[in-house]
Amino acid sequence: MSIKKILLTAGAVMLFATTAMADGMVGIAMPTKSSARWISDGNSMVEQFQAAGYQTDLQYAEDDIPNQLAQIENMITKGVDVLVIAAIDGTTLSNALENAAAAGIKVIAYDRLIRDSGDVDYYATFDNFKVGVQQATTLVDGLKERYPDVKPWNVELFGGSPDDNNAYFFYNGAMSVLQPMIDSGDIVVVSGQQGMDTVGTLRWDGAVAQARMENLLSAHYTDKTVNGVLSPYDGLSIGILSSLKGVGYGSGDLKMPIVTGQDAEVPSVKSILAGEQYSTIFKDTRSLAGVTVGMVDAMLKGGEPEINDTKTYDNGVKVVPSYLLEPLPVTAANWESTLIGSGYYTMDQIK
Ligand code: BGC
Repeated sequence: MSIKKILLTAGAVMLFATTAMADGMVGIAMPTKSSARWISDGNSMVEQFQAAGYQTDLQYAEDDIPNQLAQIENMITKGVDVLVIAAIDGTTLSNALENAAAAGIKVIAYDRLIRDSGDVDYYATFDNFKVGVQQATTLVDGLKERYPDVKPWNVELFGGSPDDNNAYFFYNGAMSVLQPMIDSGDIVVVSGQQGMDTVGTLRWDGAVAQARMENLLSAHYTDKTVNGVLSPYDGLSIGILSSLKGVGYGSGDLKMPIVTGQDAEVPSVKSILAGEQYSTIFKDTRSLAGVTVGMVDAMLKGGEPEINDTKTYDNGVKVVPSYLLEPLPVTAANWESTLIGSGYYTMDQIK
């Protein structure tokens, strides 16, 4: 055999050995690239899984349910070892996950709980109820600060997508703070629109929220001023702010109402600095990816994944053992230490 041939053969054997030595293949199904947070989640997972010796197959479904289902089925056929899924609709995956379980594939619900399935092994997320509490707390802080002499405060409520289990946790967390203030008369929801079935925003669509805010303003605020808007996600907040600006809020005597958010997305951080959006909630996607990689690694190596909650997340079939990370409220007062100090963004991205 020529030297060249020996080297080539050795190279091929080594390549084969490295592939075979990889600790496993992880299928990562993310909902959409239309929101920056999911792009960060995907990137952080690929980076951290690869550093831990895993191969990854990362797919985005552009908020299309059949598309996500097809991506997951394809991963199952390819024989991944684990599925990490941030579901678009948390209730439509039961059949696919039954097939995954039959093939011995482990499943982690990522950020959003997968409902109505016994085949979800673990759930990695943030304390979603606390996210809602923090949103409402910053809303009330902002109302006190911007409208010290107004009583009651006029507030409107927005919820997230009704097919996302998180949306109920955010809303219920927020209402645990706001409902007592509504009951005591400190806050009035002028439209009277309350409850997730009324205030939910399908697919977390900013245009839908913008249209609903426009309707609220024209139907209920021609002779009143809105002081605050509970918004559960930055993408909705931007739409809501645009409706408010459209009728003159934020200029002349008409102060910008206190508008909350979530995810610390760049346009919203800029909006906070410009004095428009009041707050957001920072959920470090790098940490969520880290928790997920740890869970996968433990499962595939026969260990016990670290969990810190075994009560909260009943998916309709079982209580899914979970790890909950801490969310952090962000306002103009702490954005720099929270978002730049943590290395999540560079100053150039914001200013
Ligand atoms: C996530 C939020 C996000 C929302 C819209 C939720 O499930 O937990 O972080 O704002 O989806 O993408």
